[in-house]
Amino acid sequence: MATLEIRDLHVSVEAENGPREILKGVDLTVKQGETHAIMGPNGSGKSTLAYSLAGHPKYTVTGGSVLLDGEDVLEMSVDERARAGVFLAMQYPVEVPGVSVSNFLRTAATAVRGEAPKLRLWVKEVKEAMAALQMDPAFAERNVNEGFSGGEKKRHEILQLELLKPKVAILDETDSGLDVDALRIVSEGINRVRSSGEVGTLLVTHYTRILRYIKPDYVHVFAGGRIVESGGAELADKLEAEGYEAYVKGGASE
Ligand code: ADP
Ligand code: MG
Ligand code: MG
Repeated sequence: MATLEIRDLHVSVEAENGPREILKGVDLTVKQGETHAIMGPNGSGKSTLAYSLAGHPKYTVTGGSVLLDGEDVLEMSVDERARAGVFLAMQYPVEVPGVSVSNFLRTAATAVRGEAPKLRLWVKEVKEAMAALQMDPAFAERNVNEGFSGGEKKRHEILQLELLKPKVAILDETDSGLDVDALRIVSEGINRVRSSGEVGTLLVTHYTRILRYIKPDYVHVFAGGRIVESGGAELADKLEAEGYEAYVKGGASE
C-alpha cells in the first residue's frame, strides 16, 4: 500500500529581502485510500506545501523529508515525481499554446505510464472520462487552458486525475471559482477516483463547502506554515462555525 510520509518539512522562498521560511515543520502521513483535507487561512502556506511536494523550482526545501513508499521524493525531478505517482492539480494552471487537451493528456499519460497508451484504447478512455465529467467532446481539441473558464480548468484537472491514476493526488483549491453544479460534478469525479481505494488524496482548501460532497477521513488545520490541529471530518464543521481566528491569534501564525 502506497504511503506518502512528510516529516518536519521546512521550505523557503526567495523574497526581496532574502530567503523567507514559509513551511515550518510539516508532519503528515497520507496512505493510499485515505482523504486528508488541509484547511487554513489565506497565506498560511497551503499552496507552498502543494508546490513543494510537486517539486516546483521556486520553493527550496531547507529541512525535513518526503518519502513515497520509502523513496526520497525530494531527490526526484518533477517528471520523476509524476512517474512515481505524485499528482498536483495546479491552482492556476498555465496556458500551453498550440497543444490540444487530447495531446497534452496523452503526453502526460505516456510520461506517467512509461509508454504511450494504445491510441484506440486511449481515445475511448478519454471519451468515457470526459462523458463522466459532463464535458463536451469538442473540448479535447481545444488548446490547453486557452480561454478556459474557471469551471473548465477544474474539470480538466479532474480529467487528468482520472486518466493518470496517481498514488497521491494533491488538489489545491479545486473548489475555488466553481458554481454549485460544477462543484458537484468535479466532486463526483474526485469521489470516483477515491472509490478505487488506490489513491491517497490531499485536498487543500480554504472553504468547507467542497467537504459537503467529499467526506475526508482526516481534517488538518494549517496555520503559520504547519499543521496546528488534526481531527476527523467533524473538525471541518467546527471550522465552518468558528473560522480560523483562534488558530491565527493563538500565535500559531508567524
Ligand atoms: P496559501 O495557499 O495558504 O494561501 P501560500 O502558500 O500561497 O499560502 O503562501 C504562504 C505565504 O508565502 C504567503 O505569505 C505568501 O505571500 C508567501 N509566498 C509564497 N510564495 C512567495 C514568493 N515567491 N515570494 C515571497 N513570498 C511568497
Ligand atoms: Mg522543525
Ligand atoms: Mg493557496
